[in-house]
Amino acid sequence: MKTKKDALIKYYRCNFCNATHEITIKKSILDGQSKYPFPYVFLHDSMTNGDLQELLTILYIDSNGKIRGTEIQKLGDNNLFSKEQVFNIVKPLVEEIERLQEDHSKLTKQIEDLKTKS
Ligand SMILES: [Zn+2]
Repeated sequence: MKTKKDALIKYYRCNFCNATHEITIKKSILDGQSKYPFPYVFLHDSMTNGDLQELLTILYIDSNGKIRGTEIQKLGDNNLFSKEQVFNIVKPLVEEIERLQEDHSKLTKQIEDLKTKS
């Protein structure tokens, strides 16, 4: 496993394009989850029978950055997401936003506390 200072580089073997994909996961995303394994969602292109397809890729990653499972869903010709796909994409983002908002209000409070002390 290669590591960068603030990101993990993972490789996973894709059954759809029979290729190994490289993905970079920020450490802040890995550390900021409330539940493990968590779904890491991204799109990747695949050439199958000369057709370019977009594949919705979900990797389930544990707290050590290990890939515990993968799930790939083909997007339809119209590229519309199903409700389930949208949910899978949006949920981790919403959780990330909630976490950032929490951090923000904690920091704001700390700043207020410091102001009143000085
Ligand atoms: Zn692939």
